Amino acid sequence: MASIDDIADFVIVGTGAGGATAARVLSGAGHSVILLEEGPSLAVADRPRDLLGGMRAAFRDMGTNATIGTMPLPLLQGRCVGGSTAINSGIIWRLPDDVRRDWTERLGLGELVDERGLSDAFDAIERELGITETVPALWGGNGERMARGAEALGLPGKAIVRNAPRCKGSAQCLQGCPNEARQSMDVSYVPRSIRQGARLHTRARVDRVRFEGTRAVGVEGAVLDAARRQVGTLSVRARRAVIVSASAVQSPVVLRRSGLRGMVGERFMAHPGCAVVGRFDEPVEMSFGGTQAYEVPLRERRIKLESLSLPPEMLAARLPGAGAEWVERLTQLDHFAQWAVQCRMEAVGRVRPRWFGNGSDASVTYVPTRADMLRIRDGVVTLSRMMFAAGAREVYPGVAGLKTVLRDPAEVELLEASEYVPSQLTMVASHLFASCPAGSDPANSAVGPDLAVHGTSGLYVMDASALPTNMGVNPQHSIMGVVWRAAERLAQQELRASTSAA
Ligand SMILES: Cc1cc2nc3c(=O)[nH]c(=O)nc-3n(C[C@H](O)[C@H](O)[C@H](O)COP(=O)(O)OP(=O)(O)OC[C@H]3O[C@@H](n4cnc5c(N)ncnc54)[C@H](O)[C@@H]3O)c2cc1C
Ligand code: SF4
Repeated sequence: MASIDDIADFVIVGTGAGGATAARVLSGAGHSVILLEEGPSLAVADRPRDLLGGMRAAFRDMGTNATIGTMPLPLLQGRCVGGSTAINSGIIWRLPDDVRRDWTERLGLGELVDERGLSDAFDAIERELGITETVPALWGGNGERMARGAEALGLPGKAIVRNAPRCKGSAQCLQGCPNEARQSMDVSYVPRSIRQGARLHTRARVDRVRFEGTRAVGVEGAVLDAARRQVGTLSVRARRAVIVSASAVQSPVVLRRSGLRGMVGERFMAHPGCAVVGRFDEPVEMSFGGTQAYEVPLRERRIKLESLSLPPEMLAARLPGAGAEWVERLTQLDHFAQWAVQCRMEAVGRVRPRWFGNGSDASVTYVPTRADMLRIRDGVVTLSRMMFAAGAREVYPGVAGLKTVLRDPAEVELLEASEYVPSQLTMVASHLFASCPAGSDPANSAVGPDLAVHGTSGLYVMDASALPTNMGVNPQHSIMGVVWRAAERLAQQELRASTSAA
């Protein structure tokens, strides 16, 4: 029986953007830290390069976890050391200032996101993770054509800034960077925390937080084998605090299974999106370049457009037609470009533990609004126009019920003429937020400005779920910056407490 029984000052649940950053800061300040991760530790050499193998190894339920609503919307998440950072494209954006001011003025989060402190945290993370702009030599044919399309339409395109300082353009971020170029948490803050004294237990699923009165004193759960069967029990005690960093889907599940209610799981938000594919006469060669290298941020329109190079199996599934027509397109697989739109949706959903599941199984209710779908249409229309402007011969907008192959820029008007419903599009969401929102008022927040869970002591939420709204930019850096600030304060507070006790 491979049971785990352990104790540390801080017990952190999850090793993604939030958990690894909390561990980096707390262990760096000299505290003892235990990291608990439901998924396995995946060495770069062990990560399958094919899409399905890669997804089976590192994605939660192979990306099949979907929302409940008018249309299932897959929620993509990592389940391995590094969490979703181990499968993401490493796009880096600081928290936009309009969002920072909204959180400060409307939600009373000034002490968490004060301009100076947050900027210092971002500076430190950017230094440590080697954050740089993608050089044109690494845009690849996909990114280059997007730049051409944006320029032709006068759109504000730019090279993507990423945490991939030694990127070789192998376009395999989704399967895990084969060159360890991308500084995902599994190759950066988790090993760094371990060097600073932290201990990591993998295949360790936390089911609930253990309380003495209202004080969190540890966690309980299961030890899993490679097939995710329970092979032991998990009991880890926290001398100072439990930090839940299990993601915007799993953190509220762990907290609700622990008996917490209020706003826990109540205000889930996301940036869902979909993709448009274009066929060019000349080879595009999507297999070379940064997985995501070029972007067009249109925040005032609540959409963001990005080049997105996918493994060939995934691209093939996106090609229209059947029989000989489809096979002909397949023979030209290196002639396609793909760009995606992500939408800062206004829809608000709800997360609950799945009643027939256990541990981290979640049920997420989420339905895009009509305004959200009009914004998605704006993205699909703009991407289609950019494709033609970049020289595409055919454009596949991917809207069921409308023309599947556009051959003339004038046909884009057809896309604009009707409203879409979610079931017409193949949307996914990988930017997830706000299911344990931070705020100063316990009536409309789950955690306070220090990210401590209201009504408890020794219990914190440090991940995407604590961000109180979506933001219109890729979230990893904001999550890390906010968690860095909160963990820094917690480290200082606990050091002061131990000094005065001594
Ligand atoms: C395919 C993809 C591409 C993306 N691209 C980008 C990008 O380029 N730039 C960007 O900014 N953002 C990107 N994102 C989003 C970004 O990666 C996430 O927003 C961020 O990683 C979320 O951080 P987190 O700490 O909240 O959760 P995660 O990083 O998901 O980490 C949560 C961890 O907790 C573990 N866990 C969950 N439940 C339990 C439990 N009960 N017990 C123990 N462990 C548990 C999980 O296995 C996981 O490892 C992408 C996401 C995906 C999926
Ligand atoms: S594009 Fe390739 S080399 Fe560059 S970060 Fe992604 S996986 Fe690594």
